[in-house]
Amino acid sequence: MIDNLINQLDRICKNAEEEISSAASLVQLSELHTKFLGRKGLVAQLMSEMRNLSQEEKPKLGQKANIVKNDISKILVKKEDELQANEDAEKIQSDKIDVSLPGTQQKAGGIHPLTQTINEIIDIFVQLGFTVEEGKEIEDEWHTFDALNIPKSHPARDVQDTFFVKSSPEIDVSENQTVLRTHTSPVQIRVMQNSVPPLKFIAPGRVYRNETIDASHYSMFHQVEGLYVNENVTFAELKGTLLAWAHAYYGPDVDLRFRPSYFPFTEPSAEVDVTCTMCGGKGCSVCKQTGWVEILGAGMVHPNVFKSVGYDPEKITGFAFGMGPERIAMLKHRINDIRLLYENDTRFLKQFV
Ligand SMILES: [Zn+2]
Repeated sequence: MIDNLINQLDRICKNAEEEISSAASLVQLSELHTKFLGRKGLVAQLMSEMRNLSQEEKPKLGQKANIVKNDISKILVKKEDELQANEDAEKIQSDKIDVSLPGTQQKAGGIHPLTQTINEIIDIFVQLGFTVEEGKEIEDEWHTFDALNIPKSHPARDVQDTFFVKSSPEIDVSENQTVLRTHTSPVQIRVMQNSVPPLKFIAPGRVYRNETIDASHYSMFHQVEGLYVNENVTFAELKGTLLAWAHAYYGPDVDLRFRPSYFPFTEPSAEVDVTCTMCGGKGCSVCKQTGWVEILGAGMVHPNVFKSVGYDPEKITGFAFGMGPERIAMLKHRINDIRLLYENDTRFLKQFV
């Protein structure tokens, strides 16, 4: 009987060795510990047979059992060290940061091409000594038209051209209606009303016209208006200022051409063309073969404008100009449809980032 039990212990030991060596995880190893050495494990179960042995045989089985338990324990400890080391290595491997892997690219925003153009225009005028003023987009008729020498009968004041904030079928022309400003010129009036000359500023901002929207017209667009008011201001200073701006914006090779024109708020008035930068003035489709593109309007401030703000036109003189950043941006970037500037199509806008 004792020999049989000892043989069984040897088998248990051999099985334990095999199973432990093929254990794949610490959890599995813990299960094997319970299976072989636990309180109800295989060794313990076999030891319960001891009560059937004689007094001489008992110690022999006891000794053998101790050896087997020791052996299994040693194998378990060895395997545990091995599995623990593997687990640690895997953890280190999985935590490792590979600095050579490409990073996740952050998408950068960009400044809208129109804002870029306005900022470039402003920067140059600031360098020429102009300050920047802003005004209201919702204005009254007096500041938008009357103070700027635009008579009540002028077609610009028609509902076909101007957005009246409270529109009624019959607008009372004697009333000072509220409108969306049709140009940035009311800023001139408000600044002059609150200051004394000399004044030298630009007024960039949005303006609104009741236009039918197409490739070259929109119901909202921008203007950059400029005003210089002082004693003895001359038309030569206006030309010099605009030429200095054009050289800074387009480069030293461009020239300006002043064509006589009419605006109610300036006298004399001029429409101003710049050398076509596409063809260098030789003539192309952009400039309709003329070599020139119109970019702004300008003139000497009309005496009636000075009177409306309480300045003495006998003493005070000045020049004013206004340009359209949309047109300047479209010419610069060869954009053929003004609507692209407002539709926020990222495929279009990304080209300017
Ligand atoms: Zn051209």
